[in-house]
Amino acid sequence: MTTSVIGYPRIGKLRELKFTIEAYFKGEKTATELLQLAKTLRATHWQQQVDNKITYISSNDFSFYDAVLDTAALLNMIPKRYQQLSLPELDQYFAMARGYQGEKGDVHALAMKKWFNTNYHYLVPEIEETTNIKLTGTKPFDEYLEAKQLGIETKPVIVGPLTFLKLAKLPAGKTYQQYQSAIITAYQEIIAKFAQLGTQWLQIDEPILVTDLSKQDIQSFEQIYQALLPTKGKLNILLQTYFGDIRDCYPNVTALPFDGIGIDFVEGKESLKLLQQHGFPADKILFAGVINGKNIWRNNYAKTLAVLDTIKTKASKIVINTSCSLLHVPYTLQNETKLTIAQKAYFTFAQEKLQELTELGQLVDNSQRTDHAAYKTNQTLFTREREGTNNTIRQKVAALTKQDFVRLPEFNQRETIQKQALNLPLLPTTTIGSFPQTSDVRLNRSKFKKGEINLAQYTEFNKQKIAECIKLQEQIGLDVLVHGEFERNDMVEYFGESLNGFVFTEKAWVQSYGTRCVKPPIVWGDISRSKPITVEYSQYAQSVTDKPVKGMLTGPVTILNWSFPREDISNKDSVFQIGLAIADEVLDLEAAGINIIQIDEAALKEKLPLRKADWHSEYLDWAIPAFRLVHSKVKAETQIHTHMCYSEFTDIIKEIDQMDADVISFEASRSNLEIIDVLKANNFKTKVGPGVYDIHSPRVPSIDEIRKTIEKLLTKIDQKKLWINPDCGLKTRGEKEVVASLINLVKATQEVRSEL
Ligand code: GLN
Ligand code: ZN
Repeated sequence: MTTSVIGYPRIGKLRELKFTIEAYFKGEKTATELLQLAKTLRATHWQQQVDNKITYISSNDFSFYDAVLDTAALLNMIPKRYQQLSLPELDQYFAMARGYQGEKGDVHALAMKKWFNTNYHYLVPEIEETTNIKLTGTKPFDEYLEAKQLGIETKPVIVGPLTFLKLAKLPAGKTYQQYQSAIITAYQEIIAKFAQLGTQWLQIDEPILVTDLSKQDIQSFEQIYQALLPTKGKLNILLQTYFGDIRDCYPNVTALPFDGIGIDFVEGKESLKLLQQHGFPADKILFAGVINGKNIWRNNYAKTLAVLDTIKTKASKIVINTSCSLLHVPYTLQNETKLTIAQKAYFTFAQEKLQELTELGQLVDNSQRTDHAAYKTNQTLFTREREGTNNTIRQKVAALTKQDFVRLPEFNQRETIQKQALNLPLLPTTTIGSFPQTSDVRLNRSKFKKGEINLAQYTEFNKQKIAECIKLQEQIGLDVLVHGEFERNDMVEYFGESLNGFVFTEKAWVQSYGTRCVKPPIVWGDISRSKPITVEYSQYAQSVTDKPVKGMLTGPVTILNWSFPREDISNKDSVFQIGLAIADEVLDLEAAGINIIQIDEAALKEKLPLRKADWHSEYLDWAIPAFRLVHSKVKAETQIHTHMCYSEFTDIIKEIDQMDADVISFEASRSNLEIIDVLKANNFKTKVGPGVYDIHSPRVPSIDEIRKTIEKLLTKIDQKKLWINPDCGLKTRGEKEVVASLINLVKATQEVRSEL
């Protein structure tokens, strides 16, 4: 049986692309060097798939930043503000991705949003009144031809027109349907061009089909493809869906003359049921997504073969596929030197998944499959118990009662008590926690990891950084200080390393956005805490200032969502185990004299199921309680903050309030503060700090700009409820821009304050 890969990671197995792009930003590498590296990476990735005998290999899955942004550029959707900079094409592209501040002008980046239910972020394309959607770029064709020259026939991948239009930002008062005919014309041209090049298969990604669709959406879908498909000639078209099932439109999809349809059987809970109910057209190929593109646990062949056997009863032509792009898993286990052999046996990253595809392809048609060595080896993993069980923790979770999730006294009473206890000015200013991780900070950590310095030296350096950071914040005039998080490589990895039950990789990076990658820990066994984690540094920070210092923790939902979760116990059980560990840390901080504690739930919304019907039962019913569990036992005087990295929680605003934090800060500047109307309409009780400037871009906001933002916020938010802070942590920013930005933030706040 043949095999297919939806997409391959592109950042490079040692993050070569990241480093080269960043060097290009700094002027240390030329555009030619960057283009050359990209070419080498593409060739390497194609060759790996060839070596693993993958039948359908993707091209145009490469990107310098993001595939949605690539599509915008391809279709001439460059907002005016970027055109006016008159930059070379590559720089214009990067200006859209990350903003531009220089001799040619000063513009913000495009908005950035989470890609469906992943931790990958795409850039939101903007359609302006004057935008003329048409095919102007050549990237997909160039990359297809590049592979062809290497002797590799690939299937180019493009973001589907419906997904693209539904994700785009439209001019006020416009609907996406109004751009349908323009987009159809552009995609007809793309199809014609590929047909002319002799391309055999084109993969069109429509992940939007796994979300809740309206009748109109389905109608648009049909109209678009009824117009596109007749023009395809000899080109085969694969409609690829992922991240769930297509329950709203299965019959509509299968009725259209696609040559192949890609269905996700990993996250698509109802995919098998849909197939059984409606069957599958005999003239089409079913690309069956059975290899998990999002998690790193080895595939259980017995289970997957059972699924494939069922699929076979309904579909005659099948290709074994990944469930989504492998972009969401790391490259390879080969560079991991610290995982034990026993652990490695349980994992597969992108490269190893290629082999799983091939093995499954061989096993599925083999009547003696259970005798096959690959099958037997695979099954040994799933028939024996894995190490890492902690019965004490399991019992604690089982014994949790309602009271463990309720903080008393209730919010209003706490608000009064905290006002007196903390005595903060109106519009208190603060930051989200981290300060720039400068090279000396990283050097100190790497020296310690390599054993070149001892723990005392390592800690001493961090304390010195903390003291400097506190002093800097005092000079800037911030009201609530932070210690700066210099000891943390990453907000999740740091806690994972200090808790029992996680395992870590060295090179298992996954792209989060642009050149930014994360290295998620793996939840291996039951989670517990043996000793305090953050108390020493927090206490030290508080000892060098009279201003309040916020303790800084990562919440259980985020720890779980930014790790590779287990597949052998439920997420609910895992998250409560983590919650109990963090709850102990909260109480230890409180006992050490830390009066404000921030528990970041940066990734809370990330795993919100794509379909509304699943929100509560599959997620919110345990995620919100997990946060409450963490702070339910603190004193009334202790102020609990939380932080989220997005503002699109309009639909779960009640649930966010029910987390029962005292203050919440969140990203808002990139999404035009739309959230504040919703806060008001819902009588949001929690105090709020909507980020007043964008930290994902290096540009420094002016006093005036921040002032206007604060004034705008004050039209909708009670002044007693408002906090002033940046969007997110400052870790990835340069020191200079951070200081300049924070000075402006404080000055702007003081100006507004003086007029209240
Ligand atoms: N406290 C963390 C920091 O400031 C929060 C980061 C995040 O929200 N992603 O870095
Ligand atoms: Zn954040």
